[in-house]
Amino acid sequence: MPAWIDTHCHLDAAEFAPDVDAVRAAARAAGVQHLVIPGVELAHCDAVQALAQRHGDSYALGIHPLYTGCAGDSDVAALAQFLERVRHDPHLVAVGEIGLDYFVPGLDAARQEQFYRAQLQLARRFDLPVILHVRRSADRLLKGLRELPVPGGIAHAFNGSLQQARAFIALGFKLGFGGALTFERALQLRRLATELPPEALVLETDAPDMPPHWIYRTAFERAAGTPQGRNSPAELPRIAQVLADVRGVTLAALAEQTSANALQALPRLHGRVNISQKCL
Ligand SMILES: [Zn+2]
Repeated sequence: MPAWIDTHCHLDAAEFAPDVDAVRAAARAAGVQHLVIPGVELAHCDAVQALAQRHGDSYALGIHPLYTGCAGDSDVAALAQFLERVRHDPHLVAVGEIGLDYFVPGLDAARQEQFYRAQLQLARRFDLPVILHVRRSADRLLKGLRELPVPGGIAHAFNGSLQQARAFIALGFKLGFGGALTFERALQLRRLATELPPEALVLETDAPDMPPHWIYRTAFERAAGTPQGRNSPAELPRIAQVLADVRGVTLAALAEQTSANALQALPRLHGRVNISQKCL
């Protein structure tokens, strides 16, 4: 069975609170050997660190663009203090999840930008890569990265153009692919996933969000009483199978390549994730 790295899983989300250890165990049983757990707000820092340490996984710390509205003005300074305290923790691998979201209405664009840039500065100060939330914001994010270069990272749930993808790659980034790819109508995303070089790809579930098509329930189904399914890190191998199929590669080759890519994007994974071991 191939060994996988889920490079983006919100294991600290409230949806997992009742059975988080069982969720992690199920992922491990499915071959997901390592998770990267990104934080989304200051109040989550302790929880993501504790979860990563308890399960032998990794974490990132950051203020997500969708949380900038409720974040306090002193939160970036407090995040800097937290990073200072944990900077030698081997489980810490990045600053994230940070970025810009121009899709969700009602967000203050200037405030998002302010938090994004301040957290790029933190990544520079602590010499950490970043995990980026990219939603209709690729060009603006790229502008920030050119002005405040960081040691690479991952553009998570990437859904931009090939040209934008190449610009991220040129800045040392990998592109995260997950559940969105599993929808047959996602033609543009599937084309992008075949056009990119193999060394640019990493896999993620973004669980409990972004359910793959076999978990997703339409608005009609939900209205009829079937609740939306909960995505989980155990879905990663099945999502990977979709990517392997569209690219015409074996699952084992994809596992090895994407794990190597994850280690390149997040160098602090080195020594804690064994990718030479093709099978568990
Ligand atoms: Zn996320």
